[in-house]
Amino acid sequence: MNELPLIEHFKRKINYVPCIAGSDLLVETIIIDFDLSELLPYINAVAEKAKYIPELNWIKFKFHGFPHKYQDGVWDVAVHQNTISVRAFLDRDTADKVSDECINYINDIIFHKDEIIPSYKEWKQPKAIDIIKYLPKINCGKCGFPTCMAFAAKLALGDTDLINCPELSKEPDKRQKLLELLGN
Ligand code: SF4
Repeated sequence: MNELPLIEHFKRKINYVPCIAGSDLLVETIIIDFDLSELLPYINAVAEKAKYIPELNWIKFKFHGFPHKYQDGVWDVAVHQNTISVRAFLDRDTADKVSDECINYINDIIFHKDEIIPSYKEWKQPKAIDIIKYLPKINCGKCGFPTCMAFAAKLALGDTDLINCPELSKEPDKRQKLLELLGN
């Protein structure tokens, strides 16, 4: 039995990504008229690199849309209650198109829900103090944060990405450790 309706009616909100100082990247938030919480274990079972925190009714995962010059068509999606946030975009048109694709993807999970074995596996959030061990610790500010520790704190929350630290390209071993720690 499938009790959740498909997403058909929604509102869109566009904002700048709040956690990157001076960023002109956009996040699109889709607001729907029902709660998606019961779907999260099903998303957790099938979505790529899903990070599910049941206590918060929150999940984040990677979504493949069409290629884009910023991220080669891999987008970060977070679902919480009746909102779906998709990021990060350089322009509104791309944000709308990728968000539409993402809604189709979630509708597909709703439609096939009864065929999916839900996963209640919880994502253990990494600690900033563990992340900082593998960052360059030069506080250059290129990531948009004044210190490596501030960047580590945002990484722990999943509010920024390793790609924003260009200095890590000089330290592939540490970058790999961070990828493992962050579950990427
Ligand atoms: S870009 Fe990297 S090295 Fe520079 S402050 Fe940010 S985290 Fe530290």
